[in-house]
Amino acid sequence: MSDFFSAVRVRYAPSPTGYLHIGGLRTVLYNWLLARRHGGTFVLRFEDTDRARYVEGSIEKMYAALEQVGLTPDEGIRVVDGQIIDEGPYAPYLQSARRERHVAYAQELIAKKFAYVCFCSKERLAELAEQQKTLKQPMMYDRHCRSLEQAEVDRRMAAGEPYVIRLAAPLEGTCVFEDEVRGRIEVPWAQIDDQVLIKTDGFPTYHLAATCDDHDMKISHVIRGEEWVSSTPKHLFIYQAMGWTPPLFAHLPLLLNPDRSKLSKRQGDVAVEEYLGKGYLPEALMNFIALMGWNPTSDREVYTMQELVQVFDLKKVNKAGAIFNLEKLRWLNAQYLRSMSVESFFAVCLPWIQTLSDDQAFLQRGCLIVRDRVEVPTISVTR
Ligand code: GLU
Repeated sequence: MSDFFSAVRVRYAPSPTGYLHIGGLRTVLYNWLLARRHGGTFVLRFEDTDRARYVEGSIEKMYAALEQVGLTPDEGIRVVDGQIIDEGPYAPYLQSARRERHVAYAQELIAKKFAYVCFCSKERLAELAEQQKTLKQPMMYDRHCRSLEQAEVDRRMAAGEPYVIRLAAPLEGTCVFEDEVRGRIEVPWAQIDDQVLIKTDGFPTYHLAATCDDHDMKISHVIRGEEWVSSTPKHLFIYQAMGWTPPLFAHLPLLLNPDRSKLSKRQGDVAVEEYLGKGYLPEALMNFIALMGWNPTSDREVYTMQELVQVFDLKKVNKAGAIFNLEKLRWLNAQYLRSMSVESFFAVCLPWIQTLSDDQAFLQRGCLIVRDRVEVPTISVTR
């Protein structure tokens, strides 16, 4: 790519497994900010190929949360009046509807000898994993089927034996790439597993589907959570094998609890819907999320979305995990509540206080009295 930001096309590609996670919201926001900053396009794709993890209604729920915080896509899946709309120049954006393409790409990889058919049974793989565990070896496929003769492959396929398609990852050398956040990353190819690309049920795995879709949708920057960094060599190898130009990659730091453990449901709310439902303002939440892992200056905390767009810089995102500091969110929320007009502040409080009295003027006076002490409207009333 000659010009780094020519035609920025970014995407958020969640799996519809329930709700919008606060970490997911940060991924959305950074993608969105980069798109807005460079006049690009923010695409929403749903990765629903893992049917076992599919949760009915989650696309609608996640989209509603995005709408509430004002981060709707420029292209891709939309939900209008409860209906999922899948239209656009690179439709479909619902990954399962792209399955035929994924299978065709896998076949092309086999033809080019960058992928192969594997008949290993679940039992054999479980035994292998057990052995590797005992010997404290890295858990990876032993490439048992990589050298099968074509005649044997044809015979077993014709006999209807179940199979998967695996990537034939390079056996030597090093995968080197430049991550926009983490800098230069080097991984010996010998550590990269022969990843399953197509499962026995004929569905693609995330690795194949996401890579092919990112290529087909002309994605320029893949911005996603750090948990995917170790998969990136596999994805880069698919680009190389197919003769495609890869996008740029940026892996965002993990979100951590104050004790530095991974942010999890057990220690508090992680669903965006929960925060909004408790009366955290979308603007305060966005401001807070934006500064988790990136801060344009060290002496300022309050930014409007407009200001964030103007200063957003992917290269300044921190490598280290970002602490989720609820106190700071509450403080920011309070700043936003205090800078609102009296009418808007009253409107924000009303859902939680309307049952207390029928007298609106009385309620409004009450709101104004506590205004300087309130951080979140719900909590101030129920306590
Ligand atoms: N579907 C993946 C997820 O749920 C997307 C990862 C990526 O952005 O490549 O996180």
